[in-house]
Amino acid sequence: MHNAHALLSTWMKHVGMSATVDAAGNLRGFYPARTAAAPRLVIGSHLDTVPRAGAFDGILGVVLGIALIEELHGRRLRFGIEVIGFSEEEGVRFGFPFIGSRACAGTLDSSLLQRTDANGLTVAEAIRKFDLDPDRLREAEITGEVLGYLEFHIEQGPLLEQLALPLGIVEAIVGQSRFTLVFEGKANHAGTTPMPLRRDALAGAAEWIGRVERVAMAVPELLATVGRIEVLPGAGNVIAGEARASLDVRHRDDGIRSDVVARILRSAETIAARRGLRLRIEKHSEQSAVAMNPALQNALAHSVQFCGFPVHRMVSGAGHDAMILAERMPAAMLFLRCPGGISHHPDETVFPEDVAAAMKVGIAFLEELENGGI
Ligand SMILES: [Zn+2]
Repeated sequence: MHNAHALLSTWMKHVGMSATVDAAGNLRGFYPARTAAAPRLVIGSHLDTVPRAGAFDGILGVVLGIALIEELHGRRLRFGIEVIGFSEEEGVRFGFPFIGSRACAGTLDSSLLQRTDANGLTVAEAIRKFDLDPDRLREAEITGEVLGYLEFHIEQGPLLEQLALPLGIVEAIVGQSRFTLVFEGKANHAGTTPMPLRRDALAGAAEWIGRVERVAMAVPELLATVGRIEVLPGAGNVIAGEARASLDVRHRDDGIRSDVVARILRSAETIAARRGLRLRIEKHSEQSAVAMNPALQNALAHSVQFCGFPVHRMVSGAGHDAMILAERMPAAMLFLRCPGGISHHPDETVFPEDVAAAMKVGIAFLEELENGGI
């Protein structure tokens, strides 16, 4: 990350920006406005990534920000532009996402500093090891007048490619509910326990998983996933005594999501009761859907249209820094087509012509803002 910061800082300075690293490990580049007392536009995304990742998730949005300023060729606007490369968006190291953007939004809970990574190192210690001061985290908060936040990001899904479109305007980031369901039955001998006398936890969980899929397929735009199942004792010749299954439900409408979650949990109870299983439901998290700012969305739509591309609005099924910044300022996102819909994988890529399209739209967006379009 030190090397990434050093390289990007060089590029930032080369296009006339200042570059610093705040206490949360965010790289902050600033391109001043014509006048000192001017508002700023924030453009950003994250610099961290997942293990065995691709090269575009996050970093593309930071580099596009710097490239847009390069296109200004030193021309000053009525607003300053801050380009931020956020730290710790993915939550890989500390099991907690969006540390960098939360610090910028001023919503970072100080208890977070005591969370540890796999080696037992706390967030506070990791910050110190990176030659930064955790006592100065508050200074990372974005203050002063802000016009908004703009994030360019790869779609990380197949929809734009299916529609043969280079770009998509994000309307909202979906809300998400996460649970673990524990089905408890009775482990017993696979050879001596007759079928009608069994209380098979895995067979119950399997029936429920099929039900989850059917419910999700019947509700437009709903996404429900059982991505992990753990079975005890986990032997081929023993009836499963316990099955622990994860549940992840997402939708842009919080009402629809809670309604579907309630139905899915009720169906688990019904299945467990019929099969003589005990059911434990553990709720892990609930995140409301986050709407992007309508005025910024419209400005993006005008820019997309002005550049001769079709305007397509869509939701994001994944969380992004924009969702955290939206708590404090108007936020908008522009998605770039993701070839093969592949992300969080080394094969992740983008089409150069789509990056050129995003650049064109970004420049048009800056002009719209310059002319008071927001
Ligand atoms: Zn990302």
